[in-house]
Amino acid sequence: MAKKAARAPKRSATPARRAARPSTPARKAAPRKATAPLRKSAARATTTAKAAKYVYSWGAGKADGNGTMKPLLGGKGANLAEMGRIGLPVPAGFTISTEVCTYYYDNKRTYPAALQAQIAAGIGKIEKIMGVTFGDATRFPLLVAVRSGARDSMPGMMDTILNLGLNDETVIALERATQNPRFAWDCYRRFIQMYGDVVLGVQKRAGEDHEPFETVLETYKDETYGNGHLEDNKLTADDLKTIIDRFKALVKERTGKAFPSDPWQQLEGAVSAVFGSWMNDRAIVYRRKYNIPAEWGTAVNVQAMVFGNTGDESGSGVAFTRDPATGEKVFYGEFLLNAQGEDVVAGVRTPEAVAELAKQMPKAYKELDRIRKVLETHFKDMQDFEFTIQDGTVYMLQTRNGKRTGVAAVRIATEMVKEGLIDWKTAVMRVPADQLDQVLAPIFDRVAVKKANVIARGLPAGPGAASGEIYFNADRAVEAAAKDKKVLLVRVETSPEDLRGMIAAEGILTARGGVSSHAALVARQMGKVCVCGAAALHVDYNKRTLTVDGTVYNEGDWLSIDGTAGEVYAGRIETGASEVIQGLVENDAEAKKGRTFKNFVQLMKWCAEGTRMTVRTNADTPEQVRNALAFGAVGIGLTRTEHMFFEGDRIDAMREMILAESLEARQEALAKLLPYQREDFFGIFKELKGYPATIRFLDPPLHEFLPNSGDQQKDLAKKLGIPVEKIQQRVHDLHEFNPMLGFRGCRLGIRYPEITAMQARAVFEAAADANKKGYKAKPEIMIPLVGFKKELDLQVEVVHEVARKVQAERKTTINYSVGTMIEVPRGALTADEIAQTAEFFSFGTNDLTQTTLGMSRDDSGSFLPPYEELEIVKKNPFATIDQTGVGALMRIAVEKGRQTRKDIKLGICGEHGGEPDSVKFCDAIGLDYVSCSPFRVPVARLAAAQAALAAKKK
Ligand code: PEP
Ligand code: MG
Repeated sequence: MAKKAARAPKRSATPARRAARPSTPARKAAPRKATAPLRKSAARATTTAKAAKYVYSWGAGKADGNGTMKPLLGGKGANLAEMGRIGLPVPAGFTISTEVCTYYYDNKRTYPAALQAQIAAGIGKIEKIMGVTFGDATRFPLLVAVRSGARDSMPGMMDTILNLGLNDETVIALERATQNPRFAWDCYRRFIQMYGDVVLGVQKRAGEDHEPFETVLETYKDETYGNGHLEDNKLTADDLKTIIDRFKALVKERTGKAFPSDPWQQLEGAVSAVFGSWMNDRAIVYRRKYNIPAEWGTAVNVQAMVFGNTGDESGSGVAFTRDPATGEKVFYGEFLLNAQGEDVVAGVRTPEAVAELAKQMPKAYKELDRIRKVLETHFKDMQDFEFTIQDGTVYMLQTRNGKRTGVAAVRIATEMVKEGLIDWKTAVMRVPADQLDQVLAPIFDRVAVKKANVIARGLPAGPGAASGEIYFNADRAVEAAAKDKKVLLVRVETSPEDLRGMIAAEGILTARGGVSSHAALVARQMGKVCVCGAAALHVDYNKRTLTVDGTVYNEGDWLSIDGTAGEVYAGRIETGASEVIQGLVENDAEAKKGRTFKNFVQLMKWCAEGTRMTVRTNADTPEQVRNALAFGAVGIGLTRTEHMFFEGDRIDAMREMILAESLEARQEALAKLLPYQREDFFGIFKELKGYPATIRFLDPPLHEFLPNSGDQQKDLAKKLGIPVEKIQQRVHDLHEFNPMLGFRGCRLGIRYPEITAMQARAVFEAAADANKKGYKAKPEIMIPLVGFKKELDLQVEVVHEVARKVQAERKTTINYSVGTMIEVPRGALTADEIAQTAEFFSFGTNDLTQTTLGMSRDDSGSFLPPYEELEIVKKNPFATIDQTGVGALMRIAVEKGRQTRKDIKLGICGEHGGEPDSVKFCDAIGLDYVSCSPFRVPVARLAAAQAALAAKKK
């Protein structure tokens, strides 16, 4: 039986068979009516003289397109064309270009006039190559798969329809041609289910627990075979026929119309559904997360079906040319016997590892292994591909650059250079900068994990360690995470609907599904820790419980997962530093022998070679400096001196200073602060080993430092020996309505120059001490929140005056400079004037964003999420520089600053300094360095190198 199915497409593809092909009976039998928009335009199509090309065919070793045409053909379409061109076994098909998608949305969901004719011609070409006819009710009919294909892959976010072209007549033809009734009716059952769901919208309604088609299927199985779990592939042809009747009745009941039997009408519906799915909720969420512009649109691919479900000599699989979790160069993937591709991806049955195929179908395995090598040599990147084996013959359905974890990205990039597949510049460009921190992600504490109890094992799908409270539903996971809880999302299997919950969770755990299920794929890309297919877990969504070996875990209980080993632990386990951090920061000899450590160090060396900008760090303590330097920072870009007073009793001295009512009282308090500051600065200079330190003078938003609670006030009153009422009165006097726009930044030093003088003295004395010990201090004193040149002038005068004094007292010279932050729009707009005094600028993009957008940096949580959702802002402007608004001011400041002072040093120290897109923008406008928190330094270095290499290439 299976043999006949196998022969159908092959036999049909012979020239003799092609010549004997009858005219298109189905098209004649079911003449197309001008009803759907696609059809309406068909009439016009014939009258259009020279229409644009919308449809690109491939097959029989030829292709209209190629792998470079991703913007037009989408990733899938371009690579199908490319695989066709290089002689890989790809079933014939065509791509409807992304231009049609753009047209579709620009023209109220209608199509260009020429499209229908081009689609008909595309089907004609498939028919010719495959030797089968669309809608043929007499012989093996052409069935097609209709799939989306955006420029960047968006796994599972859009719609797919398989087995299209089946109806009550063609299914009989398929049955007859293959002599395999179960296969034929199984295809029909799948088609109605998929089409009904995706195109006709027969989906779960509010209050329903399951998808309606699934309910019909499960009810039938229960009625016929009892309540035991029966796999779908055990259903007989007769079972399937009854189920199909019930499916059709369901469609009629839910839509009021019969299931469409005309294959052309089916095709129109499917194409529209795929274009329509570009704007579905999950695709929009995905695009937002991965910064994919809505304007790109998706292509639609229509391809001849090949069948992995004809019997036990057939199957479908998803494979990677290297392990996407670890990056190891092994043939990695999984397959299901007697199944169509969707079964593997959807995680409905847990598939077998691809290595098993070597035992079960050695010939097919050998062919796949050959293809794996061809793909890597041709595409020069790790590939993620889908294949179908139809009666022993391998077909390729897709290939794309595989999503991988940060760890794998680093390993693959560095090893491919060693193998001579790519050069080091390509390797640097290959590692997504925002994934690099996965290499730094925590692992379980070695001692704690030894004592922990493994309760289940699954597949290691996303490496790293995560502990969290378990949640069984995406919405509740999001809610809990919003309350700052650490969350593990636990699902039987995840579907793309769970995306929001996956984003919010620390880790993802599923009971079913393999390493290429959507859960695993998406988790890996997001760098989430993920264990999937842990079969011992029994999840009850209704009761909100998870049962493992009789032990019940409720929603909110703690579990821990190790996505590197695939293990699930009861309770919470402490996490510890990654190999890279142990090696670099903790100098651990064992960690330094590790592969990840070595690859990481290699990558960073290449970054150093490729970069133009340098990377500094925002650090307030010697320890932070030490960490940042270990990651390759070359100085401090921002020390927030007010942060040095957060610890212990220091805050009291600071409060005393703020609350002082007279110069004497303030100077008394300042005298207490001076030794702290001097000691801290010395520690920093010592740690920096000659690298520069930008020290920002006090910028304390008063509300952060005032003793606001009654207890704090009483405590301070006691320490200062004054009545608490006095403190309360002073706090009341100093209260501000808008503290972020109030008495802060240089305003403090202008009103009380003695504060600036104390800080300058602390810096210079510490520098003198450091120099004496041979540490070569290089302080760069930075005045905050400057909008007027005069503000800076007044402060700089104080600084120089103190410098003169200290240098004379200590009989030494100190290598220092004075500059300013550019963090209010007026500062940027008058940068030419300010640069007459400032020797350097550092963009304080936190405040610059706040003041340019008029959005409070501390209160934007309430209105920014809807702003992002509505795409008023593309990304959170406090995380990624708003290039059009804030960026414009930065450009002005750079230009004006350089006009006045050609060699002015330019940097950034706002939080954006560690965010890859912002770092790239800083490179583009010509900054000299970016500064970010210590653990973001590697990310910033990589982004900076990528920006420089990309600019050079241009
Ligand atoms: C800034 O405003 O970007 C900045 C670095 O200063 P702070 O965050 O301390 O206000
Ligand atoms: Mg600021």
